[in-house]
Amino acid sequence: MLCSSKKPSKEESKAEFNQTFKCCTYHPDIPNFLVGGILYDMTDEITDGKQRIIKAIESKISSRPNGVYAPNNYVAMYSSGDAFGHADSMGCPFYNKQNSNCSIWKYRDSVCSTWFCKYQQNDLGQIFWNDVEEYLAEIQSNLVDYILIQLGFSTASIMTFKQHGHLGFRHKILTSEEQDSLPMSEEDYNKTWGTWAGREIELYKSSYDIVANMSKSTLRSINGVESEFYENKIQSSYLNKNMLPPILKLNTLKKSNVRPFKKEGLDFIEISLFNDENAKHLPVKVQFPASLVEKFNGTKPWSDVINNSSFAPRSI
Ligand code: SF4
Repeated sequence: MLCSSKKPSKEESKAEFNQTFKCCTYHPDIPNFLVGGILYDMTDEITDGKQRIIKAIESKISSRPNGVYAPNNYVAMYSSGDAFGHADSMGCPFYNKQNSNCSIWKYRDSVCSTWFCKYQQNDLGQIFWNDVEEYLAEIQSNLVDYILIQLGFSTASIMTFKQHGHLGFRHKILTSEEQDSLPMSEEDYNKTWGTWAGREIELYKSSYDIVANMSKSTLRSINGVESEFYENKIQSSYLNKNMLPPILKLNTLKKSNVRPFKKEGLDFIEISLFNDENAKHLPVKVQFPASLVEKFNGTKPWSDVINNSSFAPRSI
């Protein structure tokens, strides 16, 4: 529905995305090194995005040494309702309404890079992209920590920065400045930025330099064993996306998933598969002779059932 130009009915409009912002009713948490990338970029396509990020830095509301994150009053409102996709107040500040596009596309964060309004292969496609998002978010966060250590920030400061943005801010009490979308007090600002106060652009560009010049082995050591865990998880969700589960069981209650039809004079059945383990519809339909279907009773692999028959199944 995102791409529909038709005006929705009242009933439909609740389920649709905001007509102005589409699905960009989300303020991303942009890590410091990507902010640096935007500031360095001299191409025309990023001019608008660069102005927007500079405005965000100068506002002294959502910019910290770890990046330009969603302001706390935004996160509080965002996480308390179902405004995503609907409310104008949730519109992304980096979304260009005139050309209906993202002004920082090349530098969007882990969430924006992996979110789609529709997924190939439905739920399985979504599981795969969620896994990729988790992986990128982990790497993003580790890189930010590494950069801040290199730039001389203490562990205590880094822990404080982590309490902001979508993952960090958990309905804590908003300061009066945050509630009114005002800049941090001068005292708080200087405490946050330390010796980098007044040199914010330099900090973001230095963050970019650290990542741009990082060797693969350093990247690997920063992300450690966790990245291996996520890589395996992604690989398995990618394979699941494309595989027929090893054991099939006919669900006699789900009549809607079964379509009988005739082929070359024989009775056939087409079944849409459903995964009981994660309650997900699989993007696979298989066709079998009707006589074979009852043999899928959840006790043996479908390959055994097939091997004992003269038929080869066909995924469609
Ligand atoms: S950063 Fe870009 S992709 Fe992400 S919400 Fe904003 S406009 Fe949309």
